[in-house]
Amino acid sequence: MKRVAILGAGPAACLLAISLVRAGVHPVVIGYPRTSPAVEGLSQRVVDALAQLGCGEALSLLGPRWGRVSSWGGATVEMNGEFAVERVAFDGALLRDLQAAGVALRAGRVRGLERGQGGGWRIRWEDATGTPRQSEADFVVECRGHTAPKVAAHELAGPTLVSLARTFDGARRQPPTTFIESFPSGWAWAGVDPQGRAHVQVVVLPALVAAHRGDLDAAHTACLGQLARLPERFGERLSPIGPTRARGIQAALRGGRVATDYLRVGDAAYTGDPLSGHGTFEAASGAIAAVPVIRTLLERPGQAGLALRYMRERSQAVFRSRVEAARSHYASEPRWAGEPFWQHMSAPLAGAPAYGQGVPDEARFALMPVVEDGFIVERRVVTSAAHPRGVRFIDGVDLARLDELLEAGIVPDASELSRRLVAPLEAVGLALRWLQAQRPIPRAGV
Ligand SMILES: Cc1cc2nc3c(=O)[nH]c(=O)nc-3n(C[C@H](O)[C@H](O)[C@H](O)COP(=O)(O)OP(=O)(O)OC[C@H]3O[C@@H](n4cnc5c(N)ncnc54)[C@H](O)[C@@H]3O)c2cc1C
Repeated sequence: MKRVAILGAGPAACLLAISLVRAGVHPVVIGYPRTSPAVEGLSQRVVDALAQLGCGEALSLLGPRWGRVSSWGGATVEMNGEFAVERVAFDGALLRDLQAAGVALRAGRVRGLERGQGGGWRIRWEDATGTPRQSEADFVVECRGHTAPKVAAHELAGPTLVSLARTFDGARRQPPTTFIESFPSGWAWAGVDPQGRAHVQVVVLPALVAAHRGDLDAAHTACLGQLARLPERFGERLSPIGPTRARGIQAALRGGRVATDYLRVGDAAYTGDPLSGHGTFEAASGAIAAVPVIRTLLERPGQAGLALRYMRERSQAVFRSRVEAARSHYASEPRWAGEPFWQHMSAPLAGAPAYGQGVPDEARFALMPVVEDGFIVERRVVTSAAHPRGVRFIDGVDLARLDELLEAGIVPDASELSRRLVAPLEAVGLALRWLQAQRPIPRAGV
């Protein structure tokens, strides 16, 4: 049995380890839990992933979904709610879920990762008492977040930003709600609970902090002074209950994400713009996507190239689409378009082709790596600029199989196709209409 080690102890590490155990691979996790407090919002999709993986401890922390209000581009709208969590508590709960799933946890700080003499990896780490330890592994997954050591230059990177977060008491009591508001120097995300405790995080360029000579409290107060809607919601009696905390942020697609015995997952692979609020979802979905890749690399080494291509292209595509979504959201705020923050954030990422660029506009069948029965395999899918990673099924109907029947001269009669594909009539009708609307060009030898 190959030895798999996961480095880190955040959402990516925990959810990957739990997913691997469920797939019959038993990793060792080497990491120490997060210690810096932060309040973050989680979407319903994170909650679905936690439920899918049986993370009862993490789910039990969530409580009801908070309301969400956005003030952007001069309009204030109520949006889909989110779940606000304190990350030290949330990550601690995930570690309990990890242990309940039977994953071996070595609580400690990784100090070094080197190639072993006879192949494989040597991991040097320090346990909770500071005693140096060493572990061997055949396969390593790097999940130490954005602070994971860099192994290659970033493939793509956006501007460096800073987030300043501070907690207050005395906000007007109201149902638990999160708020987003744009202002000339950046944007703010805030959450207030029914006891009147408010967390206010602003995202700005580092120059704003420098203009306050590095005084984080002064910089945060200056940003609050630029907000119009939040003070109306929170009232005049906010009183800070601790200092302002700063976190650096940079959307980046990291280099060296995949190798036959090494993967990076979560923030260690790529970080999006926090405006999307998708970081934990990306960590969860990246962890789930990594499982068939790892199993293919371990059990079907002849398919390694395919598995690596799947993981590499997946992270490129997701990163580009997230960055583009954030850029167009920044560009939809016209009021501060001349301000440095908004100029930086609404400009396309240097060197980044748009999502789907390089893929021909017209639809065509192409061989692509896909997940099937827990492994990465190559299958015919329909690709186009709108679907660069390909579409294989519509309503459960395999488009390549449907195309083969059409090519073999089966008239596009849904009932005959439904019989041959052993699929419901409505599903076949839907798939047929979808395929005809794409009008894939003839199969070029595929
Ligand atoms: C300002 C800001 C606001 C954000 N807001 C949101 C939000 O509202 N919603 C959202 O979904 N996401 C948000 N994110 C993103 C989110 O925090 C991350 O995307 C998510 O935590 C990534 O999970 P991860 O497991 O990859 O990394 P991390 O959560 O960073 O976990 C890394 C883990 O590795 C451990 N570790 C680090 N070094 C070592 C070492 N040497 N040895 C052993 N262990 C180590 C750490 O202790 C930690 O447990 C925000 C990010 C920032 C910066």
